[in-house]
Amino acid sequence: MLSWDAFESWAKRAVEWTKGYHASLRQRPVRPHVEPGSVLAQIPEHAPESPEPMQAILDDFEQLIVPNMTHWQHPRFFAYFPANAAPVSVLAEQLTAALAAQCMLWQTSPAATELETAMMVWLREALGLSEDFSGVIQDSASSATLAAILMMRSKASGMTANQAGLAGGPQLRVYCSDQVHSSIDKAMWVAGLGQDNLVKIPTYGPLRSMDVAALEAAIAADRAAGHVPAGIIICVGGTSIGASDQVAEVVALAKREGLLTHLDAAWAGSAMICPEFRSLWRGVEGVDSMVFNPHKWLGAQFDCAVQFVRSPQLLVETLGIQPEYLKTHGKEGIVNYSEWSVPLGRRFRALKLWFLLRAHGLEDLRGRIRNHVAWSRDLAEKLRALPDFEISSDPILSLFSFRYMPKEQGVEGQALDGEAADALNLALVNAINDDGRIYLTQTKLDGRTVIRFQAGQFEMEEQDKDTAFAVIVECARKLI
Ligand SMILES: *Cc1c(COP(=O)(O)O)cnc(C)c1O
Repeated sequence: MLSWDAFESWAKRAVEWTKGYHASLRQRPVRPHVEPGSVLAQIPEHAPESPEPMQAILDDFEQLIVPNMTHWQHPRFFAYFPANAAPVSVLAEQLTAALAAQCMLWQTSPAATELETAMMVWLREALGLSEDFSGVIQDSASSATLAAILMMRSKASGMTANQAGLAGGPQLRVYCSDQVHSSIDKAMWVAGLGQDNLVKIPTYGPLRSMDVAALEAAIAADRAAGHVPAGIIICVGGTSIGASDQVAEVVALAKREGLLTHLDAAWAGSAMICPEFRSLWRGVEGVDSMVFNPHKWLGAQFDCAVQFVRSPQLLVETLGIQPEYLKTHGKEGIVNYSEWSVPLGRRFRALKLWFLLRAHGLEDLRGRIRNHVAWSRDLAEKLRALPDFEISSDPILSLFSFRYMPKEQGVEGQALDGEAADALNLALVNAINDDGRIYLTQTKLDGRTVIRFQAGQFEMEEQDKDTAFAVIVECARKLI
């Protein structure tokens, strides 16, 4: 077993390994060549009864685990969204692990609670938001959205839902576009509102924005049917292709209808430290709640989702619960952040934000995001210029999608039909990922398979975009 006396030398080994790992990333395939079940098959079926040497444990980590991981910190990880872990945030996480504090109440974590308050002010300012918002760190955007939907449930039920449940009451309806993340659907399930009460509004235009006239009509139809509209989820920077609603328009309608709004900007929010991108969420000052993930693009290691709310009071009335054993007697005016979130236990997540924002400074973080956006746009233009590629959705920040559409593949020189094109592009994604130099994922756009590209990894360099271009074109042309 590892005693605290022996901890130092093994911790040094772990640090050396970490450094070497990062230095080796460019030589590794981004996604491993691994068959399902092959790792499981190599793990003993039972836990050992007696201690094993640390050396054996670390050896197994290096030989069994590392080669069979997808490397999210790889500079050529262009799939999904980034999950950056800047070195300084890794360091902070190590200290957080050492303190191993439960940051649920002020009393259980005075400095962590107050640092969280301060970091929420720093980030609010960094994003250009007004003082009307108060922030809290949630574990994930999914949790923040769940908290927001629970606020909608509270308010729409006249604050009776926690006590009485929803049975026998009217249907509480929530609205969003057809481009939202699956965490919205899941929050509806978990909140007991049900999938059928999530009304998905069609989108239009290059930004795939929610059709506000259709939203208004849906709300009116629901009221006429005896349902109770509860709130609207607004999307900026959707996961599939970056879909973004017209926030100001949706907020104006919500205010007329007396509905709460929650903005999911889990990925795109980090970019708002750059003033030039803020037009994408124009009107944000009117939302009641929003979430963005510093654990995606900003560099704070997972997990770190920041939720800003206009009324912490409504949030606390929804999620605050104080059994006798959690009461803090004799301390007025303190904040207990567990009353702002679904889980009780909370990690000390503010520390990595503090380390990150101080060690980098906002200007460095802005520079990285600006590079990602510029490189992504550049790659989109290079692909667009080729006769056998098409850009399916233009870059929204650093995310765009494309398809490989070689003319000569169709019957007698005709364009590919839809299904053949889908199959070809799925084959292309697999070929690219088997190649290993870059990692991309696919999505569906208007029912067709398209390939996503997003730039956002912290250590990405301009040459990585050129490698991406070379790999995409090479793999595509090899398919014919
Ligand atoms: C990543 C993402 C989520 C989910 O984030 P988690 O923190 O993993 O729950 C939700 N919405 C959008 C738009 C996202 O990009």
